Amino acid sequence: LEESTEKVMSTQCPYCSVQCTMDLIEDTVLTNKRFKSKPNKNSPTSGGRMCIKGANAHQHVYNDERITRPLLKIDGEFVPVPWELASEYIAKQFQSIQHSYGNDAVGVYGGGSLTNEVTYLLGKFARVALKTKHIDYNGRFCMSAAAAASNAAFGIDRGLSNSLQDIPDTNCLILAGTNIGDCQPTIVPYFRQAKKNGAYIIVIDPRETATTKLADLHLKPKPGTDASLAQGLLKILIDEGFIDSEFIASRTNGYKELAEDLSSVNLLRVSEVTGVSAEDIITAARKYGEAQNGFILTARGVEQHANGSYTVGQFINMALATGKIGRYGSGFGSITGQGNGQGGREHGQKADQLPGYRSIEDDEDRKIIADLWEINESDLPRKGVSAYEMIEKMAEGEIKGLFVMGSNPAVSNPNGVYTEHALKQLDYLVVADMFLSETARMADLVLPVSSYLENEGTLTNLEGRVTLRKAEKPMPKTIKHDWEILCDLAGYLGAGEAFDFSSAQAIFEELRLATKGATADYYGISYERLSHETICWPCPDEQHPGTERLFDSDFAHADGKAIFTPLDLKNEVDDTMINDEYPLLLTTGRLMSHYLTGVQTRRSADLLKREKEPLLDIHPDTAECYGIQDKELVELKSSKGTVIIRANFTKSIRKDTLFAPFHWGDSQSVNRVTQPRLDPVCKMPEFKRTEVSVVPLVEK
Ligand code: SF4
Repeated sequence: LEESTEKVMSTQCPYCSVQCTMDLIEDTVLTNKRFKSKPNKNSPTSGGRMCIKGANAHQHVYNDERITRPLLKIDGEFVPVPWELASEYIAKQFQSIQHSYGNDAVGVYGGGSLTNEVTYLLGKFARVALKTKHIDYNGRFCMSAAAAASNAAFGIDRGLSNSLQDIPDTNCLILAGTNIGDCQPTIVPYFRQAKKNGAYIIVIDPRETATTKLADLHLKPKPGTDASLAQGLLKILIDEGFIDSEFIASRTNGYKELAEDLSSVNLLRVSEVTGVSAEDIITAARKYGEAQNGFILTARGVEQHANGSYTVGQFINMALATGKIGRYGSGFGSITGQGNGQGGREHGQKADQLPGYRSIEDDEDRKIIADLWEINESDLPRKGVSAYEMIEKMAEGEIKGLFVMGSNPAVSNPNGVYTEHALKQLDYLVVADMFLSETARMADLVLPVSSYLENEGTLTNLEGRVTLRKAEKPMPKTIKHDWEILCDLAGYLGAGEAFDFSSAQAIFEELRLATKGATADYYGISYERLSHETICWPCPDEQHPGTERLFDSDFAHADGKAIFTPLDLKNEVDDTMINDEYPLLLTTGRLMSHYLTGVQTRRSADLLKREKEPLLDIHPDTAECYGIQDKELVELKSSKGTVIIRANFTKSIRKDTLFAPFHWGDSQSVNRVTQPRLDPVCKMPEFKRTEVSVVPLVEK
């Protein structure tokens, strides 16, 4: 028998909220065509599918640019140093800052791609080891609007109210600001099947995308007017009698006031504001109203606005008013973006949260967590500020030290020029990453971390389904896991006893206890169970099967009822900032081949080959007005900064709107022009609507 040259790694794609499972097959003899990826048919979510990102995810792990030793910046140059020296140095620097300026002068900045275990530990590290209130993460820019709206309406925030298995049996789908065709392509078959079964699909997006190809009706609103559109749809549903009076009476609060206030909404005004015809708004409302089962899914397109949480609340109102939630085939959801966008927001790396969605300002929650962490409740810091507000505190000199793990804030924050300035103000910046990202390049010390193939941990997908990703590849000996770094640093900071973990599993055991009885209850989920099944939370005990569909009988508010989001007509978009200087609107988003700020996907040769630079989508008629040629470099400007980017003619976009992806850094970072206008409730910045100008690049 010939000896096999193949080694199979059963893994899970690190790149989006679907978390497709796959086998990565390594031919240990071949150097050319060394890896093959094969999707796993047994995945309950992606069943035998993966996209181009998943197929090539491993490439960044083997990229030569990977950092393999701690790097200390000396005279502007990075120098490799031993771990002991790096850890000791970090602890001394942070302690010195805290000694002079107080504990809150050091902040922690996390990410939505970290495992649940690291998310949990990072929150504990900030509050127990560093004793700072300043911790937040890049998920603030991802899920905060939907989370705020869901919490207000339902009393709980989980991506989807139902599992994806319900989608094929729905009769009408509204996809509001979500481009699953490019961003989560492996779930598209659920939607295709729904269409085959007769469902009517409505897509709301200012652009034509891979997703709008599925649509029976494509509504193309002006960026930032989605709240008005949802109000218009809701008004028609009420005026034309599509409401479910029994559901409203028995399962909701706040309808009467909403219905009264909606009488002042004028459909012609909605049409004027949104740029969507009244006929199309009426058709969309009627199709959703008439459908026996309906599903509404939102995503960043309608959420990343200064009124994002309000907008999502209006879409939820539609589901509640028509009783299309809490049963098979009918529901509401927000499609998570990041790999662990769901779990990442549940376990304590958000400024206002403790593990399991416990509130950091709730006395009972504080006591439970303080007891578990064996600290006095009075020593547990209170609520800090949101991710972008932390940047402001850096610029103002209030935060002087920062520890970044699993994030690239220099590129992902809005108002990029200011953000870069703020990071440069820091006395000490430490970044844990696999590569010298744009943020890591600015750091005083960089710590190398393990990859998705090397570290074990749980992740929670867009349905609230918890999965276990096992370590399949030994990591280089000079690299550490995220959790090991945190435990080591805690030791140097004098909090070693509370961080005496020997594995990710041991951390998960503590996470289970921390979430017992909480909203996001993981107590019944164990590594043992996850080794042969996936489980949707809440799961209160080990015999519990998990919860695939929420709200069958109750919502999570104390009286079991959902709450309608009140109408706020002041939320109509402000067009006065579109002027001669900045006459166009920019919206931003993802491409199929890239993930977040591209730190990993730009280091995967086959992904970079497909989309090697950002392109600015512009309608040819608009381009002609500004003297722009197809594929030439242009200067895209806002009141905040300038980006140099290549124009890409397409008739698939509104003439008043431009689109650019956010996966590149430095002068190509589109966030150099985006505005830091924050949603007052959830602090989501307005990434999806920036007033801009565009001119051909003039050689200077
Ligand atoms: Fe699946 Fe998302 Fe990865 Fe694509 S990026 S393979 S859809 S998890």
